[in-house]
Amino acid sequence: MISSSKDPWRVSLHGGHSNAYCDHASSTLEEMIEAAIAAGYHTFGVTEHAPRLDARFLYPEEIALGWDVARIAANFERYAVDVHAIADRFENRITILRGFETESAPAARYLDIMRDYRTRYPFDYMVGSIHYVDDFHIDGRMEGFERAVVHFGSFEALATRYYRVVAEMVDALQPQVVGHLDLIRKNAPAGAVLDSPAIREAVGAALESIRRHDAILDINTAGYRKGLGSPYPQPWIIREAHAMGIGLCFGDDSHAVHDVGAGLESARLYLLDNGVSTISVFRRAGGGIVRYTAPLT
Ligand SMILES: [Zn+2]
Ligand SMILES: [Zn+2]
Repeated sequence: MISSSKDPWRVSLHGGHSNAYCDHASSTLEEMIEAAIAAGYHTFGVTEHAPRLDARFLYPEEIALGWDVARIAANFERYAVDVHAIADRFENRITILRGFETESAPAARYLDIMRDYRTRYPFDYMVGSIHYVDDFHIDGRMEGFERAVVHFGSFEALATRYYRVVAEMVDALQPQVVGHLDLIRKNAPAGAVLDSPAIREAVGAALESIRRHDAILDINTAGYRKGLGSPYPQPWIIREAHAMGIGLCFGDDSHAVHDVGAGLESARLYLLDNGVSTISVFRRAGGGIVRYTAPLT
């Protein structure tokens, strides 16, 4: 029986990346779960990255490790099996939700690839994230991001296209959670306008897709770690989503034990400051997951 004394808002639906499956994570999955218990979480969603099934999208760090597409695919498929056994071992100490985070490259095939993983493995849920826009990596090195700005013609054009791709992904895959909605601001040039009328319109369309499919918006504390001063997404997006009735939940996007739970208390205050007093959470029930609402105070 899981202790009922834990704060109902101590939950993360996005994170738990671990080093047996992900090149840029640094702790084992067991260590991540122990850290989640120590952080006071009652529920911890583990959402390893789906692989990019094309050698053009291997990270330089993966290539340096000697990894290829077959290796990252095998890592993920091993994760998809292991996560169930590992979660079961912890089940009387913490609720572990077993998910994965989508990858949006290669652009021409990623929707089919993600659907295939979703149907082939018994994951509890999926976090829909966009890290690549039309095969340009917007979450990696600055050179890649700058190439994307040049390709699209301006930061505004790239950002607008990014949010359109988010909306398409949500409509096509219907993920239960949408990850770091305004990730495009991570590498934005200093002084870039993040909320021009065109960008706001594209964000509005993405939020409309999220609302239509009843997905939960990830309040992602990696924004603090990246020096952005707030979680993803920005306050105006939070307020707009909340006004539309979209549910919100925390994600620590942890890739190491020291990320687990980091920024959660600040993110709770951030939501309260923006008029949000509850979050949407999942619990296990009847072999699946059921959504419920938990108070922030
Ligand atoms: Zn990662
Ligand atoms: Zn992500």
